[in-house]
Amino acid sequence: MKLNEHFSSLERSYLFSQIAREVDDYQSAHPSAEVIRLGIGDVTRPLAEAVVKAFADAVYEQGQAATFHGYGPEQGYAFLREAIAAHYATFQVQLSADDIFISDGAKSDVGNILDLFGPGNTALIPDPVYPVYRDTNQMAGNRIRYLDAGRHNGFLPLPDGRPADLIYLCSPNNPTGAVYRREQLKQWVDYARDLGAIILFDAAYEAFLQDEYLPHSIYEIEGARECAIEFCSFSKTAGFTGTRCGYTVVPRELERGGFSLHDMWFRRQSTKFNGVSYPVQRAAAAVFSPQGETQCRASIEVYRQNAAIICEALRGCGIWHVGGENAPYIWMQCPGGLSSWEFFRLLLNRAGVVGTPGSGFGKNGEGYFRLTAFGDTEKTQQAMERIADVIGRIS
Ligand code: PLP
Repeated sequence: MKLNEHFSSLERSYLFSQIAREVDDYQSAHPSAEVIRLGIGDVTRPLAEAVVKAFADAVYEQGQAATFHGYGPEQGYAFLREAIAAHYATFQVQLSADDIFISDGAKSDVGNILDLFGPGNTALIPDPVYPVYRDTNQMAGNRIRYLDAGRHNGFLPLPDGRPADLIYLCSPNNPTGAVYRREQLKQWVDYARDLGAIILFDAAYEAFLQDEYLPHSIYEIEGARECAIEFCSFSKTAGFTGTRCGYTVVPRELERGGFSLHDMWFRRQSTKFNGVSYPVQRAAAAVFSPQGETQCRASIEVYRQNAAIICEALRGCGIWHVGGENAPYIWMQCPGGLSSWEFFRLLLNRAGVVGTPGSGFGKNGEGYFRLTAFGDTEKTQQAMERIADVIGRIS
């Protein structure tokens, strides 16, 4: 028997367990201290009322013979795919419902998509990075070339002339919160088309965009339908992290070597996946109803307000940072030349505030720190006052 030996090349994922351990130690030593967490990447606000109602109604439908649903259509129910296509139309992207595949979330699809590609491909992956891109390519035995992101390019790397088969882009970005502009994405689309490469575009934070000139989708760029697959999710748009629903767009035009990637993905999904539950798909469709949209936007508005509080405090301290305006993440330079973990420990011990050391997202994250806007507004305000105080003492 042969095992997948590529698993041995994976780095141990210790970032969040190490953080949890250090926070536990701190809390045991200071039982009365109120620790504020600005490190979590999970949402905290509940599902919107309209979503809960649609969810519950669909559960009751499942309990009646007349309205019971068994296995659903392989790509997902048309009512949800059509609602998603209508959402894309709001930013002038014309998708057919047939381009869209419903899934249990973006993470699964980002990993599963590698089933379409043979082993030994070269993947361009930004550093710092959402670790799933790196780990899934290592598991598949692919070659990884890192795209250097840093202050010099605003954490938005552009094509550098190196060959690639797969190109991972995430905008708005996790962990940096940086967002590609249209003309930058155009450079990537042109590059991918020249190389015959495929862009894997992660739009999980699309709902956080507020500047109207920023692209929500890679398909806003001419030519992208022939070179890009897009992943999106209800997790951050509508608080579905624990409910699970996402979607992947594989346009009909996307072909390589005489094969339709759309047909391959359909085949892959209908062989290895049996769809998302009917109530969850009804709940997801309600996100796009007029009430659902208003209510989901209200939650995002709270997170935006938190992000604005964080950015304003950092500006007040003269700390370089990116993100926050069109993303729930704020990526800050550590003050006083501290390393990511040094700053983490200083904040925890002097302020009782938890963030995420940037070095956990790749070597270029060293010296940076990620704060998230997914918390409570009052606590975020308190945390930033404490952080400003700590920074004030360093400089
Ligand atoms: N893509 C990015 C960039 C993420 O940050 C996350 C979750 O944190 C995901 C995808 C996963 O989304 P889902 O909950 O839909 O699996």
